Amino acid sequence: MARSRPSSTSTALHAAQRSIDSSDKYRASVTKLHAHSKMIADFLSPDGRLDKSLEPSSDPDAAQFIEGCKRRLKDIAEGNAKRMKEIDVFVSAVTNVKNEMMQKNSGGENQEEEAVDYEAAIHTAMEQIRNNTNTNQDLSNHPMVIEVKTALGEKIQQDDDLEIIHNSTSDSNAYKCPITGMLFEQPVRNKICGHTYSSAGLSQLLKNKKKSCPIPGCTMNYLAMNMVEEDEEMKMKVKRFKKREEMERKKREMEEDMGEEEMGEGGFTLIQ
Ligand SMILES: [Zn+2]
Repeated sequence: MARSRPSSTSTALHAAQRSIDSSDKYRASVTKLHAHSKMIADFLSPDGRLDKSLEPSSDPDAAQFIEGCKRRLKDIAEGNAKRMKEIDVFVSAVTNVKNEMMQKNSGGENQEEEAVDYEAAIHTAMEQIRNNTNTNQDLSNHPMVIEVKTALGEKIQQDDDLEIIHNSTSDSNAYKCPITGMLFEQPVRNKICGHTYSSAGLSQLLKNKKKSCPIPGCTMNYLAMNMVEEDEEMKMKVKRFKKREEMERKKREMEEDMGEEEMGEGGFTLIQ
């Protein structure tokens, strides 16, 4: 879209659709880069070929060299993760602008077409989405980064056990869908704003005329099925939460059964 000559709405709509369509191509090229990174990571892992031929355990220079390669590879993985996120941001921005155009357009057929700088509108939308994106969406937890680290033979830190200890009196609201009000079922995360909903809740929302993220304060004013991905982390959290609840229920039942005077502190363990 040229800045000098603002395009008509229909031309702009077509251009927007073309941009959205071509995003798959960009995604595919990042995915290819990522596949190569994983292959190299395999090669660098403790039982990989490079490690075997260089013998870093007896040669400090070789060890340093391999460490350097690993660091570089992890940087590349983070770069790929970032590219993927930028593509998502771009597609959402174009989709937002496109929907606004269509809404304005549906006002009347013979409405006078105003000259709009769509390029600027897309930039503004991208800025808005970036500002709105959950800052705790740390790239070090991005699946692409995790996959490369795993291929490198690094142990991925699991916070499961820690969380069970620290979070044993957790608030069940943290595991409830803001739409259905029930514990998350098949949770999906909005790739742009980072908010999570149950699949059923999202379907419900998508039936509304005005589709926007229902989280208070979120300015994501468009929602579509292809904007979400499965929220594996939330799935696991809900599973753990249910398990904790179950354990507490069992404990209470046992306490009732045994009578209070027989209950010593830590009298029995509940670990199966
Ligand atoms: Zn949101």
